[in-house]
Amino acid sequence: MKFALVNGERVEATKSAKGFCPACESELIARFCVNKVDHWAHKGNRNCDPWWENETEWHRAWKGQFPTEWQEVVHEADSGERHIADVKTDQGWVIEFQHSFLKREERRARDTFYPQLVWVVDGTRRNRDKSQFENALNGGASINAKPKILSVFTDECALLREWAGCRAPVFFDFAELNKTEGVPLWCLLPISSDGKVFVLPFSRAYFIKLHRTGAKQEGLDFAAILKDLNEIVSRYISHISAQHRRSKVLNKFAQQRQYRRSRQPESFQQYLKRTRTGRRF
Ligand SMILES: [Zn+2]
Repeated sequence: MKFALVNGERVEATKSAKGFCPACESELIARFCVNKVDHWAHKGNRNCDPWWENETEWHRAWKGQFPTEWQEVVHEADSGERHIADVKTDQGWVIEFQHSFLKREERRARDTFYPQLVWVVDGTRRNRDKSQFENALNGGASINAKPKILSVFTDECALLREWAGCRAPVFFDFAELNKTEGVPLWCLLPISSDGKVFVLPFSRAYFIKLHRTGAKQEGLDFAAILKDLNEIVSRYISHISAQHRRSKVLNKFAQQRQYRRSRQPESFQQYLKRTRTGRRF
């Protein structure tokens, strides 16, 4: 963890300081490892929150975009279940930064636990993810020009397969650490149809600004933006299914017409024509 409570204050890992876990209140040890970010750890390395993921530089860089009091916030459900949210904004959005693979059941559990959840997923963990995602985009179809939204198939992209069906919006981050300038996030919307999912490029700076500013400025309401995007996709899906229904009906009519024609009794003129052309002498 980045923060422990030291004399009631949230403090980053400090040598010889006695820190306590904000979730379970047990004592924490400050750790300074060569290949890891400085952090606080529970004794015996067992974290009280089973959802907690060891932090990377990537986690820290993302968390650092938000005020410290929004980072590592203990969220308690009515049932008394407690978890530490990576970031919780003043608008109640929980932003979870996910680097490692997450089992579907655990993802679902978190989707349910946090009423307003946003995932930011590290797209650089596996080498193949970025190229598979780009291939999916190349094979996708544009369903809306502004904002640009694409429908893509999940079959060939492990990352999309893993995150499809998520109830919360997912933002994939494919930028290398400290080379984030101008690299957009890719948002996977929580809506799918016929094996297709819907994605759009989303400015990183705008994402951060939206959450930092909350709904305090007009036009910067993340919830409203999300609602608009979902509506565009829902309209597209109902338009496509109406088209399918229409073409099904038309096909049925065409088949019936064909059938009726084949059942019509042959007229005498037709009979003569047929026998004349069929004559061999
Ligand atoms: Zn704890």
